[in-house]
Amino acid sequence: MIDTGLGVANIKKVVENLIDLPISVLTTHAHWDHIGGHKYFKDFAIHKNEVSWISEQFPLPLQTVKKNLTLEPCDFPAGFCLDDYKIFKGVPTRILHDGDLIDLGNRTLKVIHTPGHSPGHCCFYEQDRGWLYSGDLIYKGCLDAFYPTTDPIAFMRSVEKVRSLKIKKVLPAHHQLNISASLVDEIAKAFQSLYQQGKLQHGNGIFDFGTFQIHI
Ligand SMILES: [Zn+2]
Ligand SMILES: [Zn+2]
Repeated sequence: MIDTGLGVANIKKVVENLIDLPISVLTTHAHWDHIGGHKYFKDFAIHKNEVSWISEQFPLPLQTVKKNLTLEPCDFPAGFCLDDYKIFKGVPTRILHDGDLIDLGNRTLKVIHTPGHSPGHCCFYEQDRGWLYSGDLIYKGCLDAFYPTTDPIAFMRSVEKVRSLKIKKVLPAHHQLNISASLVDEIAKAFQSLYQQGKLQHGNGIFDFGTFQIHI
């Protein structure tokens, strides 16, 4: 399983209804909206650069996270209590490095370290199928490279890095699932153009490219 969402309901129960296999959790990165359900699992893996975020201190106050959680009106699942919400903390059972292979038995995923959105962000690449599990690096929506812990130049280089892979399908962490593999090229070109114009620096705002935006 790649990422576990907000942690506002027991996602393990949902996954156990889908499969009978043992579940290992891979983390694309330690942002609170990707690790909320880690508490329901025994094992999880994360890149070495974000071990301290997940096991010691995530660099954002709980109040800010709670504010983000309730930014858009929505019905939380029954039993969820905002007052009790915590940012997940735990010690990983596996530490990931660029190029590591995750052996699932008859399927293998390769760890692609793609920093920029966060220092230990990873995509997972299934070479046999040409599938890229792209986390927050590639999706149809607003790509975030504006927080102090982001690095817009590293983000651009990470997009270039996955662009060199043979990709047939992109499975992102947010927004729509039916996105074309050509989105990787489009995002790479957008970053290149911002870079060439000298605009790829924090504080420059949101640039709109139609199907996606870049916030730096
Ligand atoms: Zn994120
Ligand atoms: Zn995210």
